[in-house]
Amino acid sequence: MKNFHTHTSRCMHASGKDEEYVLAAIEAGYEVLGFSDHTPWKYDSDFVANMRMPLSQFDEYYQSISSLKEKYKDQIEIKIGLECEYYPKYMEWLKSFAKEYRLDYLIFGNHYYESDEYHMYNGACTRNDEMLDKYVESTIEGLDTGVYCYLAHPDLFMRARRWDKKCEEAAHRLSAYCKEHDVLMEYNLAGLRSSISRGIMEYPHDEFWKIAAQYGNRVIIGVDAHSPKHLRDTSLYEVSYNKLKDLKMEIVEDIDFLHYE
Ligand SMILES: [Zn+2]
Ligand SMILES: [Zn+2]
Repeated sequence: MKNFHTHTSRCMHASGKDEEYVLAAIEAGYEVLGFSDHTPWKYDSDFVANMRMPLSQFDEYYQSISSLKEKYKDQIEIKIGLECEYYPKYMEWLKSFAKEYRLDYLIFGNHYYESDEYHMYNGACTRNDEMLDKYVESTIEGLDTGVYCYLAHPDLFMRARRWDKKCEEAAHRLSAYCKEHDVLMEYNLAGLRSSISRGIMEYPHDEFWKIAAQYGNRVIIGVDAHSPKHLRDTSLYEVSYNKLKDLKMEIVEDIDFLHYE
């Protein structure tokens, strides 16, 4: 098993020490563990986000993961990345930031439209049809930049809606785009954990994944760990793997890493 979607307590809604995530992954039998905490942004306003590390903390994140990578190199391969939104006006900054640190990869988590300075969480505001359209359009526009290794929780909007014609249309547009551009889609276990605890199917949503399967999309399972226990317990990973196999989807474990000159 490999997992590239792992958070740390720096994002303010995850718990546990960095080293505990590594030990849990080793214990569970992961060969590769990628850290992809919620990216900081260099805002041009005085906005302070409450679900990501401030930019001033990034160095410490990088140093901490780098030292764990070295310490456990004989037991597990550790990669350093970030989970990022698509904020058009800050993308040049993001690209040069990734290059400066030689980050291994960036995951695309389309959590907010344009910037969290102006808009609400896409897991809530997409209840509105117009915001769902904006979610789909900005997802496609973001993927067009080619900087992300995969699209996290493409069906995030199902946290805000019940399945309807609009959702079906969104699933078709995203699946068709990903198929055409060979973009890897993520089956997200944080959504699955939330669905189970709330007793209602949010995301991953069966109807969405039936459509993605029809298009023949490639899929990767992302633990989206917000606690070491999410890595230690592999039961949801196994359930998901079997479900995607039943849908006859091609499940991949490897991602393309960023290249720098
Ligand atoms: Zn998170
Ligand atoms: Zn995440």
